[in-house]
Amino acid sequence: MDYDELRRTMVETQLVPRGIKDRRVLEAMLKVPRHLFVDESIRHRAYEDMALPIGEGQTISQPYMVALMTELLELKGDERVLEVGTGSGYQAAVLAELAREVYSMERIEALITRARERLRSLGYDNVHIICGDGTRGLPEKAPFDGIIITAGTPGVPEPLKAQLADGGTLVAPVGGRFSQQLVRLRKKGADFSEEYLTPCVFVPLIGEYGWKE
Ligand code: SAM
Repeated sequence: MDYDELRRTMVETQLVPRGIKDRRVLEAMLKVPRHLFVDESIRHRAYEDMALPIGEGQTISQPYMVALMTELLELKGDERVLEVGTGSGYQAAVLAELAREVYSMERIEALITRARERLRSLGYDNVHIICGDGTRGLPEKAPFDGIIITAGTPGVPEPLKAQLADGGTLVAPVGGRFSQQLVRLRKKGADFSEEYLTPCVFVPLIGEYGWKE
């Protein structure tokens, strides 16, 4: 299978026509080998226009959603970013192409083991995966220039708002348990501006400041 060709087609048919414009984001999506972040049995489907199962009842997000959420962070290259919901590690790899340091939190150990192995073998040494409840964030490494929540949450957890740097951006799917809206918050001093962008569907964010199990 020519995965480079499948990746080019994904960018040209799924991302560019839907309005992804940031050159650096498109280059990262062209570069990161998404097929290595799913099980071998579904590798041939890695570049399809959909989320795919990664085990433990979780999913790797649709390529367009990964590109859109990444673009919304407006990364320039020198940022420290927190991801909540490592899953396969794919979104973390895309972020690692675009920011200086990526901290990624996941609550399911089995996913962490696989994600760490993939990221290590691909040479992403600027990604740090932490096991824990990401709704509490990572106060010891805060503040973050960007925070991305890749699971659906009833509201943006207060600890994550507090851990956002002044001028920082947070992107999250906010809403009900089965469907959400993509929201972008920007922090200016003590104030937050809020944009509601597009409907989306994510698995639930489970934790102290998210959904209960
Ligand atoms: N970003 C991932 C990727 O690129 O494969 C996809 C994330 S998947 C849609 C959502 C992930 O969030 C799941 O792996 C789930 O276990 C994780 N999750 C849910 N609640 C969490 C929490 N409180 N802290 C950390 N991770 C959480």
